Amino acid sequence: MTGLMQDHPLQVSALLRYAEAAHPGREIVSRQVDGSIFRYDNRGLARRVAQAANMLRSLGIVPGDVVSSLAWNTHRHLELFYAVPGIGAVLHTANPRLSDDHVAYTIDHAGSHVLLIDESFVDLAVRLLPRLGKIETVILLGDRAGDAIGALSYEALLRDRPDIVEWPWLTERSGAFLCYTSGTTGDPKGVLYSHRSIVLHAYAAGLSGALGFSAFDCVMPCQSMYHATAWGLPFAAAINGCKIVLPCDRMDGASLQELIQAEGVTFSGGVPTIWTMYLDHLRRSGQGVGSLERIVIGGSAVPRAMATTFQSHGVEVRQLWGMTETSPVGVIASPTPAIETHGADARDEIVWTRQGRLQFGIELRIVDEEGRALPHDGRSAGALHVRGPWTVERYFRSEASALDDDGWFDTGDIATIDADGFMRITDRSKDVIKSGGEWVSSIDLENAAMACAGVKIAAVIGAFHPKWEERPVLIVEAHAGDRVTEEAIREHLARAVVKWWMPDRIIFDTVPLTATGKIAKRELRERYANCLSS
Ligand code: ADP
Repeated sequence: MTGLMQDHPLQVSALLRYAEAAHPGREIVSRQVDGSIFRYDNRGLARRVAQAANMLRSLGIVPGDVVSSLAWNTHRHLELFYAVPGIGAVLHTANPRLSDDHVAYTIDHAGSHVLLIDESFVDLAVRLLPRLGKIETVILLGDRAGDAIGALSYEALLRDRPDIVEWPWLTERSGAFLCYTSGTTGDPKGVLYSHRSIVLHAYAAGLSGALGFSAFDCVMPCQSMYHATAWGLPFAAAINGCKIVLPCDRMDGASLQELIQAEGVTFSGGVPTIWTMYLDHLRRSGQGVGSLERIVIGGSAVPRAMATTFQSHGVEVRQLWGMTETSPVGVIASPTPAIETHGADARDEIVWTRQGRLQFGIELRIVDEEGRALPHDGRSAGALHVRGPWTVERYFRSEASALDDDGWFDTGDIATIDADGFMRITDRSKDVIKSGGEWVSSIDLENAAMACAGVKIAAVIGAFHPKWEERPVLIVEAHAGDRVTEEAIREHLARAVVKWWMPDRIIFDTVPLTATGKIAKRELRERYANCLSS
């Protein structure tokens, strides 16, 4: 029997319509590429989004078309977040931190005819355009037109456009955003979020056990808007009535601190590298965190030392695990009554060292090498599989499903799940170190090394070893001006990890980062994989 409720499609334009109707005066503050601050409210945003939608239509964009952006976290990029999917087109948020080859590959693979770029990317566009045969129109997100690349000015195109638009009804399964994985192996792969997945993800992300947003929050997303829609924070913020602060590309400690203090930011989020810089800034300047209350950190494991330092500033840290393929919120670590009973120390240990907790909308399982489900006992580690309405089914333009026969997506991570539903990543399957048949967790070792005074980034890789097949090697980058010795690190590790995990070598070097701010392990392996055998 069919239910008799309204068959109302979930669509991205509804998020904006809600924010405008329910929280019209809530502000959106954006740093711009030139450093200046722009501000308006949901009402102003809705007007400009309507103008942008009308402008895109006048350029001939129709439902199903893909439009690419190369842009930072700014209000104009936010306008595209609503205008492009709103008219039924797909916004491909190209990642400018990828190599030129990969940026060109993704824009071409997306099939875009229109490219909207921030001023900062004119040089990149000059380099790429000869290779981008399908691009017909380039728009500069600002007042200026760009002679060198024949770009039109976004502001000129918006001027005098009608600022109302009738949003079309779309089927909720239509594509809305196209985000590519960073292609650490092979070409980047496109994940095409649907209107339905974006809206369900926005609902779920704001829940109290997840980001826990309320209308009193001022949210500053420091994960790039081109990386999995800034983890969906702008949408979750919109439907919870939060103020939004966009930091452009200025993610250094001083710039973030300036916005936190000036705008009353209560909530922020991003990858650990950003928060390392931020905490370093606080340490050097002797400042406090001001209004900041909560922070979500993910993309790589949260060093425990980072969580405790934030706690000493009165900031609650929530770790998030996810990936482009999961929109990206998979699980978020938040306390429950069950773990409160273990006492404050045990609770902190669980919340800070687990990647997250089972969350409605995303099911997890762990399996052994034969594909048999493993128990949720907190000890058995296996391949982490996920499924749910905001998890990928197949990659863009791929004929084959990305799922196994039972409908699960293999994340490529190795994890344990405990009886309370907390998931802990022990490694990425390709980063696993197997020493004499036993697993060494690179994440745990890195975490331990990060807690050593003066260490800015710690990276652990498995290097070939004639006897043990692989042994851990630790690469350390120290904070500028801090002197860290191998002896100090060894003394520290001896207290923190079992003896046989002690790295065979500790190397001081700059740690390379990927386009999404993670440790570039592949590059480190190329550099040091043979450092124990040569
Ligand atoms: P890409 O593959 O594009 O670098 P993603 O950002 O989608 O990017 O990366 C997803 C991967 O990042 C996960 O599969 C996992 O290995 C890692 N990751 C994400 N969050 C965490 C976390 N909190 N702790 C450890 N690893 C994480």
